[in-house]
Amino acid sequence: MGPAMTQFPQRLKELAAKTKGFMPEAEGEALFQHALAITDEVSGPIIEIGSYCGLSALYLGEAARILPRQFVTIDHHRGSEEMLPPSEYFDPDLIDPISGRFDSLSTLRRTLELAELEEYVTVIVGESTRIAGLVKDPISALFIDGGHGSLATWNDFSYWSEKIDYGGLLMIHDVFADPNDGGRPPFEIYTYAMHLGDFTEIAQVGSLRVLQRTPRP
Ligand code: MG
Repeated sequence: MGPAMTQFPQRLKELAAKTKGFMPEAEGEALFQHALAITDEVSGPIIEIGSYCGLSALYLGEAARILPRQFVTIDHHRGSEEMLPPSEYFDPDLIDPISGRFDSLSTLRRTLELAELEEYVTVIVGESTRIAGLVKDPISALFIDGGHGSLATWNDFSYWSEKIDYGGLLMIHDVFADPNDGGRPPFEIYTYAMHLGDFTEIAQVGSLRVLQRTPRP
């Protein structure tokens, strides 16, 4: 990438460093740069599945603010199986003291408020498969980082990927070729997408894969 590249702001880098989540800085920067590169020929919002506490939304939300383009982040906020006990990733700070249940929504809102990105990020709370039925128009980019179990991952791929516009992006997190490095489902959907013949890989950064749908014929 050349010197004309837009920099992710320092104040958001500092906020990202304090935000709960699982998005290394280099991968977040890649999300930001690839979202920024979406051209005007590609229609629709940027969609993220799996908001958690808003770490990756800092990168995609800032890109959306600059473009400008709608950015919508989707999560039920009750924790995917990887986020709940007995998982090593379970964070007891995210238990609602009143209900005793997992709830990452208030932390997400706080992150977006601190980032001054609230007006550029639309937060949707619910199951991604049900929300998919409400979205009939193309989307410009899909970032899949929701539940990493087989059913959740394949559902997110199958309900959403066909909505990606020509030239749009499919970004998948936690893709590990070696099973010793992480779970299989994100790698499986990545492999499947690559075999469809309609996507070309344009970047690999850590466990992030960025695929582009073939541009409009
Ligand atoms: Mg992830």
